[in-house]
Amino acid sequence: MSFSDLGLSAAVLRAVTEQGYETPTPIQAQAIPAVLRGKDLMAGAQTGTGKTAAFTLPLLDRLIEGAQGGPRRVRALILTPTRELAAQVQDSVRVYGSQLPLRSAAVFGGVGIQPQISALRRGVDILVATPGRLQDHLDRGTVDLSKVEIMVLDEADRMLDMGFLPAIERILRSVPERRQTLLFSATFAGPIRQLAGRFLREPEMIEVARANATTEAVTQAVYLVDHARKRELLSYLIGSRNWRQVLVFTRTKRGADRLAMSLAKDGLSAAAIHGDKSQGARTRALKDFKQQSVRVLVATDVAARGLDIDRLPYVVNYELPDTPEDYVHRIGRTGRAGERGEALSLVCADESEQFRAIQRLISIPLPVSTVDGFEPESSFDPNRAPGKPAAKRGAGNNKVVARRRPSQDSQHPRGERSRPQTTGKPGSPRARQRRA
Ligand code: AMP
Repeated sequence: MSFSDLGLSAAVLRAVTEQGYETPTPIQAQAIPAVLRGKDLMAGAQTGTGKTAAFTLPLLDRLIEGAQGGPRRVRALILTPTRELAAQVQDSVRVYGSQLPLRSAAVFGGVGIQPQISALRRGVDILVATPGRLQDHLDRGTVDLSKVEIMVLDEADRMLDMGFLPAIERILRSVPERRQTLLFSATFAGPIRQLAGRFLREPEMIEVARANATTEAVTQAVYLVDHARKRELLSYLIGSRNWRQVLVFTRTKRGADRLAMSLAKDGLSAAAIHGDKSQGARTRALKDFKQQSVRVLVATDVAARGLDIDRLPYVVNYELPDTPEDYVHRIGRTGRAGERGEALSLVCADESEQFRAIQRLISIPLPVSTVDGFEPESSFDPNRAPGKPAAKRGAGNNKVVARRRPSQDSQHPRGERSRPQTTGKPGSPRARQRRA
């Protein structure tokens, strides 16, 4: 299957070739012909599957086909959950539409509204927006959605998670009923189905990977470690394995800031990205990370959602997310579009429940091990049925022996010790053997 089999126009095909894409990804192969036929779409696809091009390429073609001259009106509206994703989608629209006489704009919060008003007044064909800011424009009467022909809900599950349902409903009431609607979502959970049931017309269903399945291109591993030593272990891994670009997830914004500062003290260039940072700071951090002038980007789930960083090789879960689906989203930052990636989780005794929830969701056993010198004092049995108390290693004479400070220059100073899936009770021969 090649792009030229999908029915795209020559101008769009040229843009695809310029990007160096040779074959359509599975979501593109299925979605592009359906969108060109004018069908509504309900597509299950995560970031990294090529979904942005899957809706942008045929959307551009349909706009060109239906162009009628006259003043520019918003004819395609793309809603995304975050500012970063909105900016990235607009970048894709620009790149793929570089040969076409179409104008686009992105409107999102955290930046001044006036330049957006001016851009809208000058006229755009394609508007990429976050729901909150778009609602603001609707309230002010600075945007007219009455000529929208195609509407895309990108990462719809995330938009609902973020509480955007009322804003989305308001926006959907402002666009014509006769339109084409494309809904992309990583999961097809109940609320997404309800949304689709209300706003889509006989949608074509496309699912490229089983919802919640983790991508095979990502090697996953779990290191058990005490909470207090996570930062030290992370610095050690980055330094000893010579990782040049790593995205690290924390659960809280403060945690992200604190970790970025501690890593910087360890001599690792790091930046934090989360919802409390100004738009300027977030854009700068992302740019520095992409250009590899910053080695570690510490992010919260919301901020990282949809980030598109080419060939990101490493993702670290510094803390496991509360929602197991977020684990899948996080590790989806790596192993994209044909590249391999590695996702490591640093897990402490307090995180046994989150660990088990993830394990249940992805239904493949995660390899659990420890790193020499960082064996936890307090741990849990990854195979234990939920409800039983976690194993606690005794203090005092059970201290881990190898407790050297890691050197960042050393290449392979310590091995990673693979741990049997059954860890045994404390005091059992196996546990004693491990402590020795
Ligand atoms: P997305 O899932 O839209 O975030 O895309 C993930 C990455 O895949 C982006 O960096 C795209 O540039 C890239 N990509 C999209 N389509 C293709 C393709 N057909 N061949 C190679 N790379 C692609």
